[in-house]
Amino acid sequence: LKTLRLILGDQLNHQHSWFNSETDSTVYVMMEIRQETDYVVHHIQKVLGFFSSMRNFAEFLKERGHELIYFKINDKDNEQDLEKILKRLISERKFEKFEYQFPDEYRLDKQLKKICKELTIETETFDTEHFFTERGDLEKFFKGKKQLTMEYFYRDMRKKHNILMVDSNNPEGGKWNFDKSNRKKWKGEPEIPHERGFRKDVSAILKEINKAGIKTLGGVNEKSFNWPTSREDALSVLNYFCKNLLVHFGDFQDAMHTNEAYLFHSRLSFSLNTKMLNPREVIDSVVDYYYEHKDEIDISQVEGFVRQILGWREYMRGIYWKEMPGYRRSNKLRNQNDLPPFYWDAKTKMNCLHHSIKNSLENAYAHHIQRLMVTGNYALLTQTHPDEVDKWYLGIYIDAIEWVEITNTRGMSQFADGGIVATKPYVSSGSYINKMSNYCKDCHYNVHKKIEEDACPFNSLYWNFLDSNREKFSKNQRMNMMMSLLDKKDSEEMKSIRKRAASIIEHPSDF
Ligand code: FAD
Ligand code: SF4
Repeated sequence: LKTLRLILGDQLNHQHSWFNSETDSTVYVMMEIRQETDYVVHHIQKVLGFFSSMRNFAEFLKERGHELIYFKINDKDNEQDLEKILKRLISERKFEKFEYQFPDEYRLDKQLKKICKELTIETETFDTEHFFTERGDLEKFFKGKKQLTMEYFYRDMRKKHNILMVDSNNPEGGKWNFDKSNRKKWKGEPEIPHERGFRKDVSAILKEINKAGIKTLGGVNEKSFNWPTSREDALSVLNYFCKNLLVHFGDFQDAMHTNEAYLFHSRLSFSLNTKMLNPREVIDSVVDYYYEHKDEIDISQVEGFVRQILGWREYMRGIYWKEMPGYRRSNKLRNQNDLPPFYWDAKTKMNCLHHSIKNSLENAYAHHIQRLMVTGNYALLTQTHPDEVDKWYLGIYIDAIEWVEITNTRGMSQFADGGIVATKPYVSSGSYINKMSNYCKDCHYNVHKKIEEDACPFNSLYWNFLDSNREKFSKNQRMNMMMSLLDKKDSEEMKSIRKRAASIIEHPSDF
């Protein structure tokens, strides 16, 4: 049958079995469309990253001898809409069958199901051959359980896939989780190797994006685009990570520093989320490297990394498919405030937020603890509506695709799901940020003060947040310690805390 096969922008899987053989009757289609560039305002580097990677993937397909129809953003016959393009191609070119790989986003899943329902030709769906788990595996694993604890899922994955195991039941290093040893502050040593960056000239694609009038955020150096956009690039970032960064990955996983945007983080999320890299090959490379260099690399560094990909990444995907579409509307704490305007320009006197947001605007990247304990923490403490928070995270990061963005943002960071992903809200006063970074040293505010003019805003906001949610948290055992500390505060102190927190929330641009 004459078949049309769709490849979405995050389905750049070179190793997919679709591409093992070419047939005269199969034609692939890829498209740069406004439907995808406009559902949220994306960072310019995200749009550039996707378009460049898609175009490189198109080259790969052509070199392999596959027939491909590729719609560039400004092509005259580009109708900018998935449904319109597919239906027109099928009718004009008389395709007899339509095939697609399961999308990772709910909205595309719904749209493609609707399109197929309306087509009169045969249709078929395929796995993306990317993840360790299938969409429904997590739900099956936790069936009948009240709490969906990531740790149990992760241990099961380790056993099932025989990763970092001594034998079928015992983990390498004698422990499943070395999280507690992964909490060092970085104080200038050990030296951080420069990231495996790229200096690509993307000025031509940038011109096309501007010509199309796509609204974007953030900045880019068009002569020095710094992200992997091909399989070769992605593999070189992976190799670089194993050789140079893995050795300290776990130790400094939670560290933050004013001069270091990446520390020992891998920068692999974009390559993974576009499927240029497969999570198995990432884990295999890291684990093999560890076994070959056991005298230099501690298990805690490697376990910390494996947990992120085998554990958290697969877990978030499972939560997404279990909880969508309702998850998009969840707001259990009923937060209603706007996101402070400085999230869009980094103009704030709070040094931690300034640096974390500036990194994000300049690089389309922030590492996990900046996302969770600085920007996420502040948004939650200021009781920002999760829709606003989601919009920001979904737009600003090069790796942001809804299935992994929303579960991290609404779930892990904003506690909007009421405790599905996180058993308690990830909130802290300034002391945690001070413990893990050098931000407070040069900040306009004093991290040790609570209510004075120059007191760190996180401090009053923290107690005010607990106070505003007293009832909701009173039944949460994991909050007992925090809530009893709150109860010890006298009414005068609480009055001052509430007053300062209210002024921070009402006048975000003054801080
Ligand atoms: P590393 O620190 O080197 O970690 C290695 C890999 O582990 C990452 O590439 C990623 O694939 C995986 N990983 C690590 N943590 C997580 C996690 N919590 N969930 C899923 N995978 C994880 N990650 C995204 O890929 N897309 C997002 O849109 C996204 N949004 C986030 C929003 C918030 C509020 C928070 C707190 C986290 C978010 N994360 C997201 C998770 C994490 O912050 C990023 O994956 C990570 O910072 C990417 O940088 P890296 O590749 O250098 O990661
Ligand atoms: Fe951030 Fe407070 Fe530290 Fe300033 S003092 S950097 S606002 S935590």
